[in-house]
Amino acid sequence: MTQRSVAIVGAGPAGLYLGMGLARRGDRVTIVDRDAGPDQDGGWTRKGVMQFLHPHYLRPQVRDALLAELPDVADALVEAGAVLTPGMSALPRPGWSGAADPTDLLGYRVRRSVFERVLRQTAADEPGVSFSVGAAREVAQAGGVVHGVVVGDTVLEADLVIDASGRSGRFTDDLRAPAEGTDSGIAYASRQYELLPGAEPGPFNSPPGWRGVLDGYFASIFYQDARTFQILYVRAAADKALAHLRDSEIFDKVSLSIPGLQDWISPDRAKPVLPAMSGAGLYDHYRRPVPAKGSASMAGILWLGDAVVTTNPAEGRGVTTALLQAQQLLAILDDHGSDYVAVSERFDHWCQDNMRPWVMDHIHRDTSLLARWRGEPIDLSQRLPSDLVCAVAEVEPSLIPAIDDYLDMRERPDVLDEAEPIARKRYQAGFRPKVSAGPTRDEVADMIERHLAVAG
Ligand SMILES: Cc1cc2nc3c(=O)[nH]c(=O)nc-3n(C[C@H](O)[C@H](O)[C@H](O)COP(=O)(O)OP(=O)(O)OC[C@H]3O[C@@H](n4cnc5c(N)ncnc54)[C@H](O)[C@@H]3O)c2cc1C
Repeated sequence: MTQRSVAIVGAGPAGLYLGMGLARRGDRVTIVDRDAGPDQDGGWTRKGVMQFLHPHYLRPQVRDALLAELPDVADALVEAGAVLTPGMSALPRPGWSGAADPTDLLGYRVRRSVFERVLRQTAADEPGVSFSVGAAREVAQAGGVVHGVVVGDTVLEADLVIDASGRSGRFTDDLRAPAEGTDSGIAYASRQYELLPGAEPGPFNSPPGWRGVLDGYFASIFYQDARTFQILYVRAAADKALAHLRDSEIFDKVSLSIPGLQDWISPDRAKPVLPAMSGAGLYDHYRRPVPAKGSASMAGILWLGDAVVTTNPAEGRGVTTALLQAQQLLAILDDHGSDYVAVSERFDHWCQDNMRPWVMDHIHRDTSLLARWRGEPIDLSQRLPSDLVCAVAEVEPSLIPAIDDYLDMRERPDVLDEAEPIARKRYQAGFRPKVSAGPTRDEVADMIERHLAVAG
């Protein structure tokens, strides 16, 4: 096979994974990013990638993708402190201790910053990969054929250009169809802590750590590498009172009022290492990975990762969907070589069948979640959202196999099709999911109001 020259815009997980995969097949790869990577002293602000310091849970598909193409990265991650942990279907098991069962599918508990550093360092050491620091401005093309990408004032020549510029990448907008989907209406507030020497972690009830489904919001613990952990609040973006959780003092005060979190952050157990931070603009978006006018209109450009799919990150699907795409694209390029029209058509179909359903699933569940957080009753006149179907597992064990396949993303969301009418009957008969112990959204809002009144 002839050697391809490939320009990848975006040194995030999608771009780095694909770039290393192609270089290991003999291609010449240049990865363009406006971010120069970690400083000499190890600092890395990662401007423009707001999720860099927010909590992440990496599903088993991420580890599987690494083992398949980049086993050295899988080893380096564990050396860097990543902890192996089961998939999300471990969630309903009562009394789970937090320890990974080696027979399970295993993902990682690790800070996003550690994951990115390991990927970036391996790519920097990879023969066949070079980096170009700068902002990509446009795609260089002539007569419907792409021949590179314009970075600053220079054309970087390439026969294949991949736009892996993430959720906020804009430089190819004029070539693409608009996104399908909406703002999820969900926002984040998180804070990072570290266990004190000798202190044990707090209680676990889920693979990332602990998860509380409270009345009007979610609260979670992500236990990560190096004895660090993060608390995450997921709330309605329009909820102005809970937006104050970005204030570190308020964040800790609220956290100490929730039993599942209290034990993690009591002063004899942990200390905060970063201020509280917020995150919004979380979209449920699908954009086809090919030009708006179709694959045949322009050969040699494709989109990848968050540039194709973004979902409300509270379910931790983003790195999985990014690496599944990259793995698939490598396989398609293996089959079709430099026939980029054929590559585009196959990748487009695969994304349509395997990625778009996750976005549609999120749109339905996030819309329903926001309505419930506003106090509206569950709408039993239409299909239940997947989170409500999954909640029925506690009273309808026959549904667990399908629910586990959904939770672990082993099957597409339509694996819940047969379970949904059974689950809906349970709701019609009065079933409602359990709510974790802790203040309701209104009680948290009161707590915040009182705090602000005292603080003046
Ligand atoms: C708050 C939050 C929490 C999340 N939590 C999880 C989680 O727990 N688990 C999970 O699996 N996923 C999670 N995700 C999703 C995950 O972070 C993304 O899916 C993942 O980063 C996508 O990788 P990417 O390589 O496609 O894009 P990115 O990681 O966004 O990388 C894009 C890169 O492109 C560069 N770039 C952009 N434009 C240009 C340009 N014009 N020129 C040059 N460079 C450019 C940027 O600097 C960046 O380096 C979360 C996301 C958010 C927002």
